[in-house]
Amino acid sequence: MIESIVIITSSGSQKVEFDTNHHSKCAIDLNLLNLSDYKSFDIKITFSEPIAKFRDHDYTWQKCKKNYIANPFSPKIVKLQNAQIVQSNITSGIWEIDYKNPTVLLWRFNPEFSSPLTSYLGNENRKSIVLAEQKLNFIANPTLLFPKNEAIEISRSKKPFVAIACFTDHCDFDTAENLVLQRIFFKEHQIKITKGFFLNHFSKREDNASFQNQQEELLQWNNDGHELCYHSLSQSIKSNEDSFADFEQFVPPLNDIKVWIDHGFQPYNFSLLKNSDISEKKFEGILQDKNIHTLWNYIDSGTATNGVINQFNTQHFTLSNFLKGNKNLGFIKKMQLIIKNIIFHYYNEEDLILKYKYSASRFKKVFFQRDLKSFFPFIKDVSKLGSSIFSVLLFWNKKKNIPYKLAKYSPIVFKHTITDKEFYIFQTLEMLDFKKSLSHENINALTNEKGVFIAHTYFSVPMKYHTGKLFSTPTTIDKKVAENFKYLGNKIVNNEIWNPTLIELIEYWARFEKVFFDIDFEGNIFERNNSGLIFRKFS
Ligand SMILES: [Zn+2]
Repeated sequence: MIESIVIITSSGSQKVEFDTNHHSKCAIDLNLLNLSDYKSFDIKITFSEPIAKFRDHDYTWQKCKKNYIANPFSPKIVKLQNAQIVQSNITSGIWEIDYKNPTVLLWRFNPEFSSPLTSYLGNENRKSIVLAEQKLNFIANPTLLFPKNEAIEISRSKKPFVAIACFTDHCDFDTAENLVLQRIFFKEHQIKITKGFFLNHFSKREDNASFQNQQEELLQWNNDGHELCYHSLSQSIKSNEDSFADFEQFVPPLNDIKVWIDHGFQPYNFSLLKNSDISEKKFEGILQDKNIHTLWNYIDSGTATNGVINQFNTQHFTLSNFLKGNKNLGFIKKMQLIIKNIIFHYYNEEDLILKYKYSASRFKKVFFQRDLKSFFPFIKDVSKLGSSIFSVLLFWNKKKNIPYKLAKYSPIVFKHTITDKEFYIFQTLEMLDFKKSLSHENINALTNEKGVFIAHTYFSVPMKYHTGKLFSTPTTIDKKVAENFKYLGNKIVNNEIWNPTLIELIEYWARFEKVFFDIDFEGNIFERNNSGLIFRKFS
């Protein structure tokens, strides 16, 4: 069934010998290469016949007529043309099939864009997307299992095989007053969230909430079953010296706060670590001392809107789907938005993003302030932007369905080693408009697709221009939004959606690393060690 196995690293390809006597499994010996030398590698498996079907992220069989990507939390199960099922023994890595080349299965470990981190580099703090450092060691050698009848798939959710809705909230606009209103609202709809808070009240806004001033209220959130998480340490920025002193010396107000969300440009932020005054070793040690093991650093797979809600469905994160979700807008507005999406999400290259931002400000300078010095740089940027946009529009039919770069592998949760210690990094779905994002259609789609979102929200945002926000006035909750949350809450109560806090989700998903399947003499797949996850057999 297997024609060849080749291991591909940055230093070349190497053919692997494999045991052809064993009919029900094929182990791939990784001892051949010194894995610690590499940041990533691929195993290229060529079958003697094409892959006819694959088990998709929504736990359904799909014909191999589109590309297949299965990350560590999706089934790694395919069916060959002769109906033989092929399944992986571990959850690590990514399975990728190009439907135009259906005899080849790529088993990829940490490929480009599968574990993206934001890092601000250089004198100008330029935003860069870098690949996480991952320990490429697994519970067992990657092995293909060929069961006689049935494969085994694992539920991503604690309630068997249902969708997951997780909220992580940024407290930028929280006040003593709106904190209470939010808490009562979520209690009414039985929704749990992961609530960011500022530990210290150091803010230009007097009424900004913080643990320092609103301790009692925030402890009530904790009592209600919400998770509290750090949102840096304060709203406004102190001097470098004072900031680092705060960071080193703060005392965790509770002993189970494990999540850290970067806010603003705080000098001690994880995303500024490469430019920071403290060493990575020291930074890691401070996080470890304070019990923090999960970090967020400015990566959204996209913005939720009509039809964009499931981070596991890469087809939600395409230009075509974005247009569909905004078809009620006028032509000019639609063009503006699509150009912005091409630059920010399709290309997602800092160079182009900066050119886009400069062009807007130079346009004003040239045409309104008659600043002729800006004319040539403006023309240069606009022509570069124009050609990039044009190349997408020219091949629109092909490019409109390509998933955005940072959504391709659905890198929602992955590990990163700062120096020695591993941390979990999570990627979010930006969620600003709750009328569109949490519409009945979207919630139904999420439920049907057994999908997942980890929302990046600002529940207390007061801005007038912000449509679909939770608060319609500083003291009232928007009726339509409340109705959407009621619908979501009912799905949660009826066990159609699992609504974990972030740490519940991460700690549950951490068990995927322990999964280790094997096959017995009769060709039945079984679990070698008890991961505590929920499984089901199917064919
Ligand atoms: Zn913030």
